[in-house]
Amino acid sequence: MSAPAASPRAPWRATVLTLFPEMFPGPLGFSLSGQALASGIWSLATYNIRDFGIGRHKTVDDHPAGGGPGMVMRCDVTAAAIDAARKADADLPLIYMSPRGIPLTQSIVRELAAGPGVMLLAGRFEGVDQRVLDARQAREVSIGDYVLSGGELAAMVLIDACVRLLPGVVGAEESLAEESFEEGLLEYPHYTRPREWEGRSIPEVLLSGDHKRIAEWRRSERLRITRERRPDLFAKLQDKS
Ligand code: SAM
Repeated sequence: MSAPAASPRAPWRATVLTLFPEMFPGPLGFSLSGQALASGIWSLATYNIRDFGIGRHKTVDDHPAGGGPGMVMRCDVTAAAIDAARKADADLPLIYMSPRGIPLTQSIVRELAAGPGVMLLAGRFEGVDQRVLDARQAREVSIGDYVLSGGELAAMVLIDACVRLLPGVVGAEESLAEESFEEGLLEYPHYTRPREWEGRSIPEVLLSGDHKRIAEWRRSERLRITRERRPDLFAKLQDKS
């Protein structure tokens, strides 16, 4: 295991089981998530699945039963990594990053950010032997309908989305309240100086100083953009009302 970045472990903990621990913290070490990591708001531990590999070559994979292309991560090796991580931190929900998983949404992110943290299994090759997922009760989560070459980037996406919801990470808590996916809506457009740029102006209402009108305009923009770009989200909104 790599040394946790904050010791003792922070209130929100991310543990990643991976064949490429050197990829972490990677982008998570920058900006808001990086500052929060350095200040102990969250902590990161990685386990190298290779350390639990079999024999002299530390083998972690084998041919798929039933034939077919690629290799599959062995259940015994993967289980040994999970068990070691759980011995150190028993409370974290185990999530296997997988294109077959339930799609990651802001409501899942909120749920995970409100808990003790996450233990993320990053797959490689064709994926992981099903038996270890069943035996260790891994929840499968996907970051979208496309296939990555490994689960590490997916794990980073999930961690980043959770970390920015932790208290003290994003400066103004209000800036989270109207973000995309809050209340089932996408966000309104933003503008800043200069006031005129390439013949384009900032909408007059935003310069009016009238907070009620600004709030109404932003709300109507959120509705318009959601209806145009994400009819699926908009339909859910109408079902609720
Ligand atoms: N054979 C698998 C399939 O068709 O579903 C794809 C395996 S992929 C090449 C290798 C690993 O990348 C997976 O085990 C998973 O951990 C990760 N991965 C790929 N796409 C992902 C996605 N959309 N969301 C989360 N993890 C993903």
